[in-house]
Amino acid sequence: MAEQTQDGIASEAKSVVTRSAEETIAWGREFARGLKAPLLVLLTGDLGSGKTTLTKGIVAGLGAADEEDVTSPTFTLVHVYGEDGRTSAADSSSAAAKNVVYHGDLYRIESFHDFETLGLEDAFSTPAVMILEWSEKFPLQAPWPQVRLKLEHMGGDSRRITIQ
Ligand code: ADP
Ligand code: MG
Repeated sequence: MAEQTQDGIASEAKSVVTRSAEETIAWGREFARGLKAPLLVLLTGDLGSGKTTLTKGIVAGLGAADEEDVTSPTFTLVHVYGEDGRTSAADSSSAAAKNVVYHGDLYRIESFHDFETLGLEDAFSTPAVMILEWSEKFPLQAPWPQVRLKLEHMGGDSRRITIQ
């Protein structure tokens, strides 16, 4: 895949094409290995591009829950994983099991008032990983470092994931 750098230095814009949901989950697990709280992970991409699927891998990779327990927060708006010692069976003995992960989806939120009512900012008082779908809809004042992942449909079961 073409890789572009904005400043010519080592700020890599890496992209990968996955060919199944399982591959996207596996990529997410691998990606999570390099993450450290506090961190905001912003997921952009159309409906069905794989944002929730990718989140399963990231949450599992961080040791906060098993991938099958990660479901879309489209209606519940925010899920929290790894709180109160609730960790994935596979990773419960590792240091990664200490991660608390928020998974939010702003797709159904229609007004800035509703967005504020969510109280996402309250989470910033304790280091965690916050993964947000449709974050571009509202301006979030976040004191944490951010990484943005863009997902694109490439036809069939192929998706391109770009680290921006
Ligand atoms: P979003 O959260 O972006 O709306 P979802 O992750 O909920 O997207 O849905 C993606 C859908 O596409 C799922 O049904 C998933 O099984 C399917 N899919 C097919 N191929 C892939 C792939 N390569 N990566 C991710 N999801 C895929
Ligand atoms: Mg989703």
